Amino acid sequence: MTADPRRHVPRTDTLLADPRLAAAGERLGRGLVKGVVQQVQQRIRAGEVAPAGAVDAVLASLPRTAGSLRPVLNATGVVVHTNLGRAPLSAAAVEALTAAAGTTDVELDLRTGRRGPRGEAALAALLDAVPAAESALVVNNCAAALALVATALGGELVLARGELVEIGDGFRIPELLESTGARLREVGTTNRVTLADYRGALGPQTGAVLKVHPSNFVVRGFTRAVEVPELAAALEGTGVPLVADVGSGLLRPHPVLPDEPDLQTTLAAGADLVLASGDKLLGGPQAGLVLGRADLVQRLRRHPLYRAFRVDKTTLAALEATLRGPLPPVQEMLAADVEGLRARARALADRLAGEGLDAIAVDADSRVGGGGAPEHPLPGTAISLPPEFAEALRLGARPVVGYVEDDRTLLNLRSVLPAADDDLAEAVLEVARAWT
Ligand SMILES: *Cc1c(COP(=O)(O)O)cnc(C)c1O
Repeated sequence: MTADPRRHVPRTDTLLADPRLAAAGERLGRGLVKGVVQQVQQRIRAGEVAPAGAVDAVLASLPRTAGSLRPVLNATGVVVHTNLGRAPLSAAAVEALTAAAGTTDVELDLRTGRRGPRGEAALAALLDAVPAAESALVVNNCAAALALVATALGGELVLARGELVEIGDGFRIPELLESTGARLREVGTTNRVTLADYRGALGPQTGAVLKVHPSNFVVRGFTRAVEVPELAAALEGTGVPLVADVGSGLLRPHPVLPDEPDLQTTLAAGADLVLASGDKLLGGPQAGLVLGRADLVQRLRRHPLYRAFRVDKTTLAALEATLRGPLPPVQEMLAADVEGLRARARALADRLAGEGLDAIAVDADSRVGGGGAPEHPLPGTAISLPPEFAEALRLGARPVVGYVEDDRTLLNLRSVLPAADDDLAEAVLEVARAWT
């Protein structure tokens, strides 16, 4: 009878009063700790934990932070991986974001003590980076930028049929545009559109002509598109603005990605507004960037919907630091040369093989991701391990996401910064140790 563990389950209050758990409660929140205490009490009742080990069991089960999102090593070889939070922020951006996380002068001029323009410094950084723009605006993401444009410039939006794009996870740009009440005037066919098609669609009802970069696919063969310079020239004098959604957020042409449009070139070529994401190739926080003609940007800023799309102080801080600070991780990863990647893979594979693992370095393509540059596999390298590592690494204490190909787990180094190589090796060794 006395062996019945239920009689010896420590009381919740007693456990929460333990100094170590009280300290954890201060840091993580008493409610969170209490939840874990209750789980451990269940395990004591089930005979899985000894009553005397209750506090240790609670401590072992507590999360590291009060939030449940965990840092993950991205060894997929997809540089901008939407399921892994797209662009990892630079250390400078994280620092700026942390500094702005409390109360901050995001909308107050400290010299006068009066209200100031919101996020002015981030906007100035954008304009310095893209000199062809007169003015800039930041919203929640590129989808929000599109919705704001469609709502504020609305009426009828003229758009080529070949640019009715689905980005991913069922997100279809034409459906988003129509959800605002704007009407779409589709021109051309799936594979071909001409200047005459665009001209024929213009009328007093036209709100804007929209060009959308078909980020994640290409049309090949008997095709024809009308590019920004030609379209801008044709619209001159009509009063109809040309809006270009370039998607990826490149500020300038990128030598590794010749087919990706960039903000500066597209504006210089005659677009009145350009739209892009902040967390793709720009390498910053989730944001929608709108740059271009001052009068149009002002119309968007004045529209009531802008308020629903405006970004947080931490986003503004991280965006500014991404633009002003050192090269963000995404740019470093894109620039990594294949010889350097191979050397890292060999060093890591040797280290793992030295510990008795079946690990070798192999060449493996990597990708930009985030719906960018579909025709542009980047050369890269991976560490190849037995297939069972993939799942175990995902479930490890420091999760690593790789992939299985040809019955091997591949950990692709293009999407891992060199500074994380030690962590990667440690994560693999930890999995291997758990099996022996
Ligand atoms: C990715 C993408 C979007 C969506 O951007 P979000 O920032 O995720 O809202 C819109 N348009 C294009 C062309 C894109 O590539």
